[in-house]
Amino acid sequence: MAGERILIIEDEARIAQFVERGLIYEGYRVNVARDGQTGLAIARDNPPDLVILDWMLPGLDGLEVCKRLRAAGDVPIIMLTAKDDVKDRVMGLDAGADDYLVKPFSIDELMARVRSLFRRSTPTSRPEVLRFADLTLDTGTHRAHRSERAIDLTAKEYELLELFMRNPRQVLTRDVIFDRVWGYDFGGESNIIEVYVRYLRQKTEQGSEPRLIHTVRGVGYVLREE
Ligand code: CA
Repeated sequence: MAGERILIIEDEARIAQFVERGLIYEGYRVNVARDGQTGLAIARDNPPDLVILDWMLPGLDGLEVCKRLRAAGDVPIIMLTAKDDVKDRVMGLDAGADDYLVKPFSIDELMARVRSLFRRSTPTSRPEVLRFADLTLDTGTHRAHRSERAIDLTAKEYELLELFMRNPRQVLTRDVIFDRVWGYDFGGESNIIEVYVRYLRQKTEQGSEPRLIHTVRGVGYVLREE
């Protein structure tokens, strides 16, 4: 570990301490905030490399904190939640969270997700511009363009689009997408891939722009021309 700085925003002392100890043991530098306002202030003064954010917080709730963090930059955000239903999950993704962990969770599970987000957000090679049809993706800036139109992506949206752009016209199964983008088993019934594909389509198919990410029913998805 390179001593990345992680900010925990969690009001429950027991959980905050459990997470903090686990992260410190793995070599991360950790800040803890017990409410959203404090968390935002720490993030502003001492920008973290990743944020672990509880959903239910006194005052500003986790969703609002997530939106404000997202408005200020693209730090990876893992939300902790007791809510495991699809609607809540989608709300969190809308707010810009990159990942979810449902309480109660094991420290091993949390570490796997932290490592996965760091692995994905660390450039492993020289930046390049990937191209498919009129879509381009800059692996340095993580920005996409459709023709001249700039597209802002969250960290997970970027990873998913990069996977498609590196494998054009190849059908990617749900298993492959899980493995390559999330790096662990999110659970068989999860609709997380559908949710992210929907976000990518909303961002990459505006007006009369033809669809590029196609569903292969019962199998997965493919990036191809219509
Ligand atoms: Ca809480």
